[in-house]
This record gives sequence, C-alpha cells and structure tokens, in this order.
Amino acid sequence: MFKKVLIANRGEIALRIHRACKELGIQTVAVHSTADANAMHVRLADESVCIGPPAAKDSYLNIAAVIAAAEITEADAIHPGYGFLSENARFAEIVAAHNITFIGPSADHIRVMGDKIAAKDTMGKAGIPLVPGSDGAITTIEQGAKVAEEIGYPVLVKAASGGGGRGMKLARVPEELENAINTAGSEAKAAFGDASVYLEKYLELPRHIEIQIAADSHGNVIQLGERDCSLQRRHQKVLEEALSPALTPEQRAEIGEVTRAAIEKLGYLGVGTIEYLYENGQFYFIEMNTRLQVEHPITEQVANIDLVREQIRIAAGHPLSLKQSDVKFAGHAIECRINAEDPVNFTPSPGKISDFHAPGGPGIRFDSAVYDGYTIPPFYDSMIGKLIVYGDTRELCIARLRRALAETVLTGIKTTIPLFEKLIEEPEFQSGDYHIHWLEEWLSKANA
Ligand code: ADP
Repeated sequence: MFKKVLIANRGEIALRIHRACKELGIQTVAVHSTADANAMHVRLADESVCIGPPAAKDSYLNIAAVIAAAEITEADAIHPGYGFLSENARFAEIVAAHNITFIGPSADHIRVMGDKIAAKDTMGKAGIPLVPGSDGAITTIEQGAKVAEEIGYPVLVKAASGGGGRGMKLARVPEELENAINTAGSEAKAAFGDASVYLEKYLELPRHIEIQIAADSHGNVIQLGERDCSLQRRHQKVLEEALSPALTPEQRAEIGEVTRAAIEKLGYLGVGTIEYLYENGQFYFIEMNTRLQVEHPITEQVANIDLVREQIRIAAGHPLSLKQSDVKFAGHAIECRINAEDPVNFTPSPGKISDFHAPGGPGIRFDSAVYDGYTIPPFYDSMIGKLIVYGDTRELCIARLRRALAETVLTGIKTTIPLFEKLIEEPEFQSGDYHIHWLEEWLSKANA
C-alpha cells in the first residue's frame, strides 16, 4: 500500500480522499492556492504545500507545481479527485513519468473517453447502446443535413471535446441546423480549442441514469448499480438519487450487466461512470467519466462500499474487496448539492460563513469542507457541501431530508438550501416522476 498520497484538489473532495487515506493508514499531502491557506483540507492533511496564486490555472491546474509538491514531499501516489486535473491524460502520463502512481485509469482510457466521438465509437464496439447519430464528426453542412434527415429532427449538435454542457446546440427543424453546427463548433473552438462536432438524435424527455463501475488489475470488474441524476439545471446536476425510482430490478440487472461486460472488454482499470439517457425503456450512452463523481456517496450508501478506498486499493495493485455476487443494494439515498448561490437567480454568493451547524442523526451524511467563520473564496466552484441522506425506503429518505435541511445552519452567505426545501414538497419529486427538463420547467414556473 502507498505510504503517502498527494491530494491534487480542494474542498469537500479533498477531505473525502484524506479520510479514505487515513483509514488505510496512509499519510496525506494537501496542495493549495494562496486563497486556500486556511482551508479545511490544508488543516487536516499531514503536510501541505502552497502551489500558487488563487486562479486555478496557476495553482490546482498547474501540473509542474503539483508534481514538484509530490517530489518535495516524497508522495508515492497522486489522487486527482474530480474536476481540475482528474481527466487530463497528459497529467496522468507526467505523473507516471515521475514514478508516482496516478490514482485513476490509464492515460489512454482517459484520452479516448475525453473525446466524445472516440468514446461513442469505442463504447458502441464494446456493446453499449448509443444515441442514434452521425458516424463520427460532421465536416460539412450538407453532410449534417443528410444525417439529420436520416435520424429525424430534432437533432442535437454536440462538440467532440465538449463538457459542462458547453458546445451543445439544438436544431428542431432543418432551418436551424446550419446555425446550430456553426455555433456549437465556434463555442467549442473557443472553450476547448477543438471545433469538431457530431450529431445526435435529440431525446425529448429522457432521464439521466448512470452506472458506477470498478475494475481492478486482477481481472475483476463490478457494477454498483445506478444513480438517477435527472434533476439538472443548465446541464448541471442538482440532486441525485440511488437507486433510480424509474427502473425495475430486471432493467437494473440488464443494463448493469451490459455495462459491466463492456468495461471488462475495454480492459479499464479503476472506478468510472457510464452515463446514459433513458427514455421509453431504452438506454442511450452519452459519456463515460474516468474518475470519481461528485455524487459517488449515494452509491456508497446503497451498495455499502467505500469507493475511494477501493480506488486507492486498485491503484496500489490490490484486488477489489468484493465480487459482483457480493454486491447487494439496500435502502435509498439522495444527495443535494449545496451551493453558495442565491436560491432564486443562482448568482454566486461567496463570503464569510457566520454560523454553521451540520445536520446529523440517523441516515445523514454531510460531506463538506466548511466551518464556522470560514470564508468561501470567489475563485472556485460554488458547491460547498453535499447533504447525503439514506433510509430503508425512498419515503423515509425524503422525510429525513426534510428534517436535515431544517436542521442545517449556514448563515452569512446565500445557499441553495431553500430551493431543496421547496423542491422536495413537489408531487412530481415525491412520486419520482421527472425527467431532465423538469427542474428547469419547475424553476421557471416558481420564479414567474
Ligand atoms: P457534458 O459533457 O457537457 O456534460 P453530456 O453529453 O454528458 O455533456 O450531456 C449533458 C446533458 O445534456 C445530459 O445530461 C442531457 O441533459 C443533455 N443531453 C446530452 N445529449 C442529449 C441528447 N442526445 N438528447 C437530449 N439531451 C441530451
């Protein structure tokens, strides 16, 4: 096992990784920007290294500074968390070139899945169901028009290198196609330096359902069931549940096994998530994330597993601590992403937390790095905590969520807690009958 792991991240996920390391008897190194000198991940880690000024590009994304910190502290592995350098294939290669273990998959797998066209092609060949669309990139408007006619409107123009919902444009009718192709391409060129786009059938009212997998270097590949992440705003997940209220046990077992078998075929190593859209009983692959996800805790709760612990064990060459036949699901879990934002117009609300009290009691887990008197810097993501709730039934889970939201004290800044308090009283949420556009429709009605 590793002696010392450098955590190349900040916030709640840096703490989550620190906790898994400590339970495995591993020393931790925190890296931080000057803006995070007083952050909780820095306080808790065994050692810390300042790697640059506040801007992420000069600190958390500064590969040379992260590697230097690992060398100075003699860390034998680096955990990238999510975001920042976690899906940077070049970073994974550089880490390996310095004889440090990258806690994640191979650089080749990161690279393939980072290109949506290559990912679709690879996954299709491995037996994963795809959204009907163009076979590779669209190079001319005429070619795009031909494909769109074949698959039928509406179509979605998507950037090969897109992410975070950027580089995606809808064309409902043929007249909108040219503009959609051009804007998606130029948006992607500006944001990611790559203008290639492809076409996909636009699914009208799907759910977003993703499968968690884990694969070790001993040939064991397991799937850990799904998470339903259909409640989104601007393509960003807001609340997630495991398991999905929309699937039957048979559907769950079937898509789980299709996904598991494909990952086995790919020879993938580490944890990962295969994201699907789900409509009318059919699954359609959209992308694979080759890292730990923000919403991993809900899977941990229902499958009784520590995914970060498994991830570290896999990277150290250990076998998975359970086989597929050991994977059993119990109860229900929901995660709310608590953001430092105005709950109505979503403008960021950084600043000093004057009073903080975390919710507790049965079935409550609060993953956060905030504390009383902590000042949230304005430079990073606005997510400041994750309220994870679990119970034997979905009903009990919602009751506990209501109770936990009411218990939480987080003053001095605005948070999205009031949004969740309203959302969980909605009949559609309570019945589980929602799709990926439902939350935005509800928000525009609520704010009208
Ligand atoms: P990103 O990498 O930008 O997050 P994804 O491909 O994962 O892009 O898609 C993000 C979201 O966009 C999905 O969760 C879904 O809401 C929507 N989306 C993507 N592809 C389609 C599609 N073919 N039809 C309808 N909605 C889609």
